[in-house]
Amino acid sequence: MKKNDPRLSCKLENISESITLKLNSKAVELEESGGDVYNLTAGQLPFRTMPEFVDALKQELNFIKSYQYGPVLGNPKYRKKVIEYTEKTRNIDFSKRDQEFDCAVSNGAKHTLSNIFGTILNLGDEVVLISPCWISYPEIIKLWGGVPINVRGHGHGTFTPVIYDVRKVVTPNTKAIIINSPNNPVGTYYSKEWMEELADLLVEFPNLIIVSDEIYFKLNYFDPQPTYFYQYRPELLDRTVIVDGISKSFACTGLRIGYCIGPKWIIDGISKLQGHTTAGPNSLVQNALANFDFDHLDNYLNPIKIHLRRNAVLLQEKFRASTLSQCWYQSTSAFYFLINLTLTPVFSKYKKNENDENDYAKQICMDLLEATGVVVVPGSDFYAHNCCRLSLVLEQERFTEALDRLTKFLTVV
Ligand code: PLP
Repeated sequence: MKKNDPRLSCKLENISESITLKLNSKAVELEESGGDVYNLTAGQLPFRTMPEFVDALKQELNFIKSYQYGPVLGNPKYRKKVIEYTEKTRNIDFSKRDQEFDCAVSNGAKHTLSNIFGTILNLGDEVVLISPCWISYPEIIKLWGGVPINVRGHGHGTFTPVIYDVRKVVTPNTKAIIINSPNNPVGTYYSKEWMEELADLLVEFPNLIIVSDEIYFKLNYFDPQPTYFYQYRPELLDRTVIVDGISKSFACTGLRIGYCIGPKWIIDGISKLQGHTTAGPNSLVQNALANFDFDHLDNYLNPIKIHLRRNAVLLQEKFRASTLSQCWYQSTSAFYFLINLTLTPVFSKYKKNENDENDYAKQICMDLLEATGVVVVPGSDFYAHNCCRLSLVLEQERFTEALDRLTKFLTVV
């Protein structure tokens, strides 16, 4: 365990800092000194949000209520709308269940996840994660006294773990499991068959709480739409918390609105926690959301999805043309692609011998940046050994140039 400043809480000792931040500051340094930097680290859509949503925000500017405390769990009209929207888009019906469900709005999905784990975890409780996964999951779990248990997806193909491997780590004592589909950093969603199989496993563990992080739900650029385990076994809804928000699909990471829908007994717990930590999130933004027509979302996202699909196809073409086909898989959603560096020719320059299991991703990303100006995120930030993540959001011309530079670097021995 790394020792930190003795004046600080020991709770922080085991919490890692993101490597991405270091790389970003290096990239900024390079840019400021006149270098041509191709930043493929973006975790957000670089576009303006919907004009209709901007109008909805403007409408709220002159109301006193927009500047005052709102209810702890969020604006009731927005919460109701979000529940209806989730039922419609996921094809589920909470009223068919025997228990009550509710919604809690928080300051972004990250805060929502922190609230969920703060509400359900006791010291030493195990939470199963499927990696590669978003770096904040294990850190949030540790902050709340939990123990992350990692199931590795396969390095080849689409990084999807076999359900058999999940089964090996889930026990009757496991407190929760996180499912993130579409997935950051892989850029795919789990198949219908996988979700069905997962559902069959989850019903065997009646005390397990399932956290379904669906923040990239609207961002699938290849049909069909993602499906979820609870659609195959609706009884699982009774202990599932669905997480979503406006950061990714509204291109509004800075407005900090996320939410979860789950059984009322969990949402009541979140209410206690949120009531004494942050209180209800931004009133102005929630009021605008309460009056905003979510139907605008599809029109807004369609051209963005076409852009992401084009860049995904471009990536496939460039990888094929430069003998990198072995690291290619079909990305379908979110806006990421994960490269298994061990399958690239350049890796032989780093690996010392056959048994060398060290993680060289950080070094490779630094060398890539220095040699080509291309910035990608080392997989160590995602529990993805010797991998790096690139973002597909850059405009096409610069994305093409970035890919040319990247593929050249990866194929030089
Ligand atoms: N979940 C995943 C998988 C993410 O990738 C992110 C952000 O990158 C979040 C949650 C958090 O989103 P927010 O910006 O709403 O806090």
